[in-house]
Amino acid sequence: MSVTDLEPAVWPMTAARSAEGVLTLGGVDVRDLAAQFGTPSYVLDEVDFRSRCTAWRDAFSGADVYYAGKAFLCTTVARWVAEEGLSLDVCTGGELAVALAAGFPVERLLFHGNNKSVAELARAVDAGVGRIVIDSFEELVRLAAAAERAGVRQAVYLRVTPGVEAHTHEYVATGQEDQKFGFSLASGAAAEAVRRVLGLPALELVGLHCHIGSHIFDTRGFSLAAHRMVGLLGDIRDEHGVELPELDLGGGLGIAYTAADDPMPVKEVADGLRAIVERECAAASLAVPRLAVEPGRAIAGPTTVTLYEVGTVKDLPGLRTYVSIDGGMSDNIRTALYDARYTAVLASRRSTAEPRNVTLCGKHCESGDIVVHDVPLAADLAPGDLVAVPASGAYHRSMASNYNHVPRPPVVVVRDGSARVIVRRETEDDLLRLDIP
Ligand SMILES: *Cc1c(COP(=O)(O)O)cnc(C)c1O
Repeated sequence: MSVTDLEPAVWPMTAARSAEGVLTLGGVDVRDLAAQFGTPSYVLDEVDFRSRCTAWRDAFSGADVYYAGKAFLCTTVARWVAEEGLSLDVCTGGELAVALAAGFPVERLLFHGNNKSVAELARAVDAGVGRIVIDSFEELVRLAAAAERAGVRQAVYLRVTPGVEAHTHEYVATGQEDQKFGFSLASGAAAEAVRRVLGLPALELVGLHCHIGSHIFDTRGFSLAAHRMVGLLGDIRDEHGVELPELDLGGGLGIAYTAADDPMPVKEVADGLRAIVERECAAASLAVPRLAVEPGRAIAGPTTVTLYEVGTVKDLPGLRTYVSIDGGMSDNIRTALYDARYTAVLASRRSTAEPRNVTLCGKHCESGDIVVHDVPLAADLAPGDLVAVPASGAYHRSMASNYNHVPRPPVVVVRDGSARVIVRRETEDDLLRLDIP
């Protein structure tokens, strides 16, 4: 079994090459997956997903680990998350609806977002969502009204912007001051929000929340955020005589998309965060709050491989080779949106041909429709070959579109040599369903 082209940090744990050199996922030959489910397909390794959940749960024992559903959510995944003892973070009424349809324990749900509608807030309160993260002064009033109407006291966090700039792509950096999320710490807005929420009997302020960005490798950002958040907990104790019992430090840990990425092991992140919070709390004579974290990408990202079929190979002598596959920016917008880097392999056979750098592009009517830039693939790559792109589990299916009226691919779960669909492929009927002639 040759696994030389499957970098372990990048591929799901059950990915392997068969004796004849074919990629297998969860013990299933990708040629069988393509024959049975078509291409493109997202292939999700259940064992890998569950083991990432348990790794986070164990590393953060004594804390709440909320899987960030926006990375990828469907009812099956919500059930896995519940079964593995994690909590779930949703940020829209749609994500909440999936969680409720899955029967997710409502007290383990957290609902955040910078512009939750009145209807979304009412639905969350009525459903019994465990924690709602307040993001604005308007929302304080709206949520208090919803809780009063429902006759409940709603547990809430306040989202605080700690003024930390995580070293990440600017589109996903949310910790700095100039942004739409949360209450600014530096301007005093966060302290003012605390004053107001403490004056609203329908709301029970149980903690603070922050989220400094996404796809972060450098943990200094998390450390600085933790330091400032504990500082605010101290200020709140000094001003109001209240020690808030919980502190949610958000998500954002990066993953390996290519062998060049080197994410921190979750245990190290957990121990580091805990140590900082304990030290800062000791210095401020505060009881250590119960921690919460919200990993999305770090759980879902590495679990999934997108399987494509090669349609055309266009050689532009002296320029580059364009290999077109049967999906593209509708199933992976991250390359176009964030200039994300990926790797890819020839999946359906072994080749002894020399690799050459090609551009793996999609079938959409945009020249920016590129899935992988400059990836070395066998020079004899030909129409009909299957190509696999790993690390496609987070922000792929959840950000997929119907651009060019391309039906969105299915999500196929592999485990122990068998495969099943958990989100089916869209059909042309699905595309026409909303069309009123
Ligand atoms: C997006 C988001 C997350 C998850 O981020 P990842 O980078 O996927 O870990 C967690 N919390 C909040 C508030 C978010 O907006």
